[in-house]
Amino acid sequence: MKAAIYYSPKKIKVEDVPLPKLRPGEVLLKVRACGLCGTDISKIVERRIPSGTVLGHEVAGDIVKMGSVEPARKGTVPGCEKFKIGDRVTVLHHIPCFKCRFCRHGNFSSCRQFKETNIYPGGFSEYIRIPSLNVRFGMQKLGSLSYEEGAFVEGAGCSLRAFKRADFQKGDSVVIVGMGPVGLLHLLMAKALGASKIIACDINNYRLKKAKELCADMAIKPTSKNFLSQGGEGRVRGLINGLGADLALVSVGVPEAIENAAKYVRSGGTVLVFAECSDKARVTISPNLIYHEMSLIGSYSSTPAEQKTCLNFIKSGKLPVRKLITHRLKLSEISKAVRLSRDRGKTLKIIITFDKF
Ligand SMILES: [Zn+2]
Ligand SMILES: [Zn+2]
Repeated sequence: MKAAIYYSPKKIKVEDVPLPKLRPGEVLLKVRACGLCGTDISKIVERRIPSGTVLGHEVAGDIVKMGSVEPARKGTVPGCEKFKIGDRVTVLHHIPCFKCRFCRHGNFSSCRQFKETNIYPGGFSEYIRIPSLNVRFGMQKLGSLSYEEGAFVEGAGCSLRAFKRADFQKGDSVVIVGMGPVGLLHLLMAKALGASKIIACDINNYRLKKAKELCADMAIKPTSKNFLSQGGEGRVRGLINGLGADLALVSVGVPEAIENAAKYVRSGGTVLVFAECSDKARVTISPNLIYHEMSLIGSYSSTPAEQKTCLNFIKSGKLPVRKLITHRLKLSEISKAVRLSRDRGKTLKIIITFDKF
């Protein structure tokens, strides 16, 4: 089978690799769509992964094979009872244990099992092995969803979890900083959750226009003279009852964006960091904002609970994720996909497809 193998930031090659072998309870998935995620790009750019890695985790595909039946449970494959060959599914790549100290405090992405469970070799591969835990707790049938919509379920789950961690309530207002594919997904999520006002911020005109087209009530370029002459951050607060937003969600890895976000929120509001900065990055925020109950939190990854909700959001049309796709590229075009994504410009979501590579 073919898989896209990472060697260095400028060298990702599609090569022949052995088909994964299955253990009891595991499933072989023929990948039909895999989204290129911002975290894939940052892992590539920051060289956070060893040479030989196959990236990709936003997958949807067909079950083509199931692992053998364990003798203790004749007639069924553990965890596979709900599935059969030919089912169209989406799957989460990490599954928390829900029992450890991290899980009990809701920090699922720090859980050891979460880190250890993974699809193999990675979504940018013709076929992947799904471990039995992921089959049992992280696999959902697509039903009426297309494969490419299915590929959005994982990312949408991450967005939903961020809003949950911020205790976002229907009728709340939000400023979303960074209108890349993830920021725009947050925008759709804010609408789906009943936000009363959504302000989009970015320095890229194309992305601001897209945000307006989708559902932003207002699109702001924080570096523009116009914005600064009208009072800058104070104007953002003015736009939201003169108080500021309940939540500012930062989906760009720029420290200044986090500092600005603290000026957008109301007293006691929440700033949520949803992007990786460079390890050397530092932010300066007045401790008094925090003393006056501003929350500065982060959110990373998602759990099976969000997966189900997001699948239903997409099915019901509440989350029109297809509108975020700007490119559908073949596996053999993976290097082009990475380049396009790094160049930003007019690239939003890229979906890798697998028809004839
Ligand atoms: Zn992702
Ligand atoms: Zn755990």
